[in-house]
Amino acid sequence: MAHQGSCTVIVGCQWGDEGKGKIVDVLAENVDIVARYQGGANAGHTVHVGEDEFVLHQIPSGILHEGRRCLLGNGVVLDVQQFFEEYDALVARGVDIEGRVGVSSRAQLLMPYHRFLDKAVEHSAEVKIGTTGRGIGPAYEDKAGRRGVRVADLGNRARLTERIEAAQERTVRRLTELGAGTEDLDRAMDEALALGDRLLALSTEVGPEISAALRQGRSVLLEGAQGTALDLDHGTYPFVTSSNTTAGGAATGTGIGPTQITDVIGVVKAYTTRVGEGPLPSAFEPEMDEHVRTLGGEFGATTGRPRRCGWFDSVLTRLASQVNGLTGVAVTKLDVLDTLDELQIATAYRLPDGRVTEHFPADTWALGKVEPVYETMPGWKAPTHDVRKLEDLPPKARAYLDRIEELTYAPVRWVSVGTKRSQIIPVG
Ligand code: GDP
Repeated sequence: MAHQGSCTVIVGCQWGDEGKGKIVDVLAENVDIVARYQGGANAGHTVHVGEDEFVLHQIPSGILHEGRRCLLGNGVVLDVQQFFEEYDALVARGVDIEGRVGVSSRAQLLMPYHRFLDKAVEHSAEVKIGTTGRGIGPAYEDKAGRRGVRVADLGNRARLTERIEAAQERTVRRLTELGAGTEDLDRAMDEALALGDRLLALSTEVGPEISAALRQGRSVLLEGAQGTALDLDHGTYPFVTSSNTTAGGAATGTGIGPTQITDVIGVVKAYTTRVGEGPLPSAFEPEMDEHVRTLGGEFGATTGRPRRCGWFDSVLTRLASQVNGLTGVAVTKLDVLDTLDELQIATAYRLPDGRVTEHFPADTWALGKVEPVYETMPGWKAPTHDVRKLEDLPPKARAYLDRIEELTYAPVRWVSVGTKRSQIIPVG
């Protein structure tokens, strides 16, 4: 076999919003292809280039690096209207993206009826999941129920119409049962379908394209959305997303084999945040919550919702290390903690029956009742924004990073100390 290039997966280790967009953006400098492997327009990466801010929902943030090829894998549910809105906005801002974006012919199409249904179901649910209302759950339900339509189906209009009509009819029946309106659905469907040929023109075979690049010794980044605790199987079920966000999903979601992956980098925020419903064991007390949310600008990129904040939770990052097989960690937002007097790290959980565990419980309701066991570390009380070398970080900040590394069982490879591309410390 010819020399194999590198294939790195970037995965979130908490509840998403870890700053994966920034890390992908930094690493994309040295790669040829960036591919998304799951999720849809529910993801929101915020990337700062110079004075410009870009919020990307579906197109990989590698697009902001000239010449990189950006792919959406088969594991993605693609909202065509939102996709072209984003595509056209990038063009309007002068990003040269012609010929650089490809979508898997096997990717599922997220149709307007999925969005309608998502909102109606969440609105009427007794136990709310805290979805973004972007139609992601219903689109994955149709995929698993074998009712979905894929990019390749756009090539056969008669079959497409037949499948879509059946799915739409079924959805309208459910919307009616839920007492939800269907106004504007027909217009939204016409708009989505009018973009079909434009999307088809971008379709590609993502697995073979990545494999060929690797055979030629080129470098590939596979970009995850959301985080490990939102993984359909390994997260805080049912308060999760509808896909496998973890590294295994990178293989099935792009069409390559697991042995082609050479590195898995976990992105961890220096503290913890969570948006949407579900337990957050290491949650701050209200005053601290407000303080860190303001310092860290913790409001959702997709929905603007305030994120709940808490201490660094190593029970969760150990789970992430194991499920993803992390070969390294990128710690983000260390600078947000610069002014705190004291920091705590959750090292274990005390269960309601008094037992102490170092493992993340499968029972999500029990997780809501655990008491974290904390270790206290002194704050470094010095700005880190301008630090570019590990040895220039305050010793107490280094001690904090060392402890994260020890408790997570994976080496820290990058430390991010600000939103800008340049605000990164490579380690080792
Ligand atoms: P993602 O979905 O994992 O990419 O995360 P988001 O984009 O939702 O949230 C990350 C936010 O934190 C963005 O606004 C980033 O610009 C910002 N960010 C990323 N890294 C850092 C960092 O090291 N320090 C600070 N202060 N902000 C950061």
